[in-house]
Amino acid sequence: MPASASYTDVHRAFLQAVSQHGTVSAKQAYKILLSEYGKYHNDETVPTEDDVPDAVALINSKLHRFDKKIVFVHYEPTNADFYCFCPQAETAVDRLQNYYSKPELSLFRLMLKELACSEGHKVRPIVCLNLTAEITGKTITKVRAEELLDEWEKLGYFVQMDEMWYFGPKTVAEFDRYLSAHFAEHMHKCLLCNEMDFYGVKCAKCPETLHKECLKKYLRRLTNCPGCQQPWAVSVFN
Ligand SMILES: [Zn+2]
Ligand SMILES: [Zn+2]
Repeated sequence: MPASASYTDVHRAFLQAVSQHGTVSAKQAYKILLSEYGKYHNDETVPTEDDVPDAVALINSKLHRFDKKIVFVHYEPTNADFYCFCPQAETAVDRLQNYYSKPELSLFRLMLKELACSEGHKVRPIVCLNLTAEITGKTITKVRAEELLDEWEKLGYFVQMDEMWYFGPKTVAEFDRYLSAHFAEHMHKCLLCNEMDFYGVKCAKCPETLHKECLKKYLRRLTNCPGCQQPWAVSVFN
């Protein structure tokens, strides 16, 4: 794509695809861009993977006035990159009211709380299903809870790995402010970038955890833990 790309049908279609999916991996994002480009152009200048961030930046400049944004997320548990379609409003949970009933939203909030307060921000599936018992008033069945968890996983809100549920890339992108407002004492900020650190690398000598990517940059220049100032002892270059 030409460097001076203007907003075209390709961007419009790319945005539509990403907003429908909620969350796409960086690889998927490139595939979408490529296939949309193929529909509208038949010249030789095929986009490369490096064109994805530029296309996203251009789309975001248009989305700005709608309080929406495509957010890039480096997801630490799998070391993979994602793009998430996110509202920028403070009340991200309330926005979900358009799609879910009150007890379903309660389950969503309880999931956020449970993950925020759990060691390592991961929870066993049985614990998640038992959250239905904590919904006040009219509740939902465990079968429905399972369906919802599946749906929320597809949208990127939660991820199931190794028999545990984790915060997904979309929650990392969309609910960082909500989580720090409600569960400040359980959520942790990376000392190096001051952004919330969900699944960082823990220092071997103190309780500090830091983003792996931030640590990699930091350890090129310095060798001590930014928390306890002892020599950093955990490998991050693998
Ligand atoms: Zn960081
Ligand atoms: Zn330390």
